[in-house]
Amino acid sequence: MCGIVGIYSQSPVAAEIYDSLIHLQHRGQDAAGILTSNERFYSKRGTGLVREIFQPADIEQLKGNIGIGHTRYPTAGSYDIADVQPLWIGSPRGIALAHNGNLVNHKELAKEFTEKKHRHLNSSIDSEVLLHLFAEGLDEGGYRADEGEGFFNSLCQAIMHVYQQVSGSYSVVSTIIGKGLVAFRDPHGIRPLVMGERVQADGKKEYIFASETTMFYALGFNSVGDVQPGEVIYVNRAGEIYRRGLMQKEFSPCIFEYVYFARPDATLNEVSVYRSRLRMGQNLARYWKKTYPDIIPDIVIPVPFTSNTAALSFAHELGVRYSEGLYKNPFIGRTFIMPDGQQRSRSVRYKLIPQKTEINNKKVLILDDSIVRGTTSREIVKMIREFGAKEIYFVSACPPIKNPCFYGVDIPSRSDLIAANANVEEIRQYLGVDKLLYQQLGDLVEAVTRRGEHHINRLCMACMDGCYITGDITEEKIAQLGQARHHSRGEEKV
Ligand code: SF4
Repeated sequence: MCGIVGIYSQSPVAAEIYDSLIHLQHRGQDAAGILTSNERFYSKRGTGLVREIFQPADIEQLKGNIGIGHTRYPTAGSYDIADVQPLWIGSPRGIALAHNGNLVNHKELAKEFTEKKHRHLNSSIDSEVLLHLFAEGLDEGGYRADEGEGFFNSLCQAIMHVYQQVSGSYSVVSTIIGKGLVAFRDPHGIRPLVMGERVQADGKKEYIFASETTMFYALGFNSVGDVQPGEVIYVNRAGEIYRRGLMQKEFSPCIFEYVYFARPDATLNEVSVYRSRLRMGQNLARYWKKTYPDIIPDIVIPVPFTSNTAALSFAHELGVRYSEGLYKNPFIGRTFIMPDGQQRSRSVRYKLIPQKTEINNKKVLILDDSIVRGTTSREIVKMIREFGAKEIYFVSACPPIKNPCFYGVDIPSRSDLIAANANVEEIRQYLGVDKLLYQQLGDLVEAVTRRGEHHINRLCMACMDGCYITGDITEEKIAQLGQARHHSRGEEKV
């Protein structure tokens, strides 16, 4: 999972791209980059947090009124600086892009580029393959000198070239030298891409495209909805906008964005993340009452912060007290996106500190957004026991996660997923809790889709139900991709 942003402005744009990346930091803490353009590209990339990478002098150097940015959370590739986006290529003219998602057929495409087309790939990431395909399409379509309908047609042709060859998820922002800003999204719309605009005093419009709406208010943009699945939007240097739906398949955005990844104040696919989490808590509480009508906890404690919203409505529905019985140290980092297993496990006790007055001698219900490997949940339960809980119940706002994700979220291979290898009773014993309850899949879907003017056909929930919407994830492919992932990094969230 990554965060991307692209802005077309009447004035230098680097500072606003920087601010946007700060608002997308939760989507990737491994690396970040900004690329701006006028008659040439200006770029700065680095590893670490956004605020550590960019200094005021860097922002000064990044000239131009069009820019793109990226925060990185690796699902493919290494920690090498060559793998940090935005990436750019010099032909035809100059094309740069930032990508959120994951190409399922990355290896096959990379092989074709290097072995058959004799191109050099300088990184190990799928985004570079996407960039080459885009450039190839633009080259084949005949590079048009204008910035109007003619160029937009060749742009659409180039993106169709991408759509026809790529399988997987990809939300993309791109800038082309002398042309402007481009945004497009894969035909299933798996990863989010929202659009905003603002009007300057002279009546001229400026545009933003981003993974989430989280920076819109701060930068003065109004949301104008989503880039639709399979849609291309082009803003030329004069600020004229062109948009066209090229290819739409079943609209299947990722359900895990609502469960865990997106910031609660974001609206994605016309659905408020915050409201969907409230409904997750409500549905789960109703299921709890049905399953355990005689068991009423003294307090409901969320695993902060992503579970807070669901725990609030859960406690309200049950009529029991919501408690911040686990304090989270916000300066340690989000361990789901820390790659090293040992580092993750150690960090639980640094990051979450139980409050004895809230826990001692009480029947404690812990609500977490999901259980991935189970190691973090188990550690939390141990801590709650150590602080004197009388009984411990554990509920998950997300149904059991049994399959890896190949669309951009670092949910590991089946061998690492506790729910792929144990039933609910075995997991309960492993966690060491008195009761364990998972959200039902239908209730989760209902929580996301109950309200809003959305056009979602079927949410992607392959990590839960095993139905991979691109239709090309066979058992053989799962084994092959799982092996490749084991060679790179592990993952777990807290
Ligand atoms: Fe999201 Fe799971 Fe689908 Fe991956 S498999 S895109 S995490 S719902």
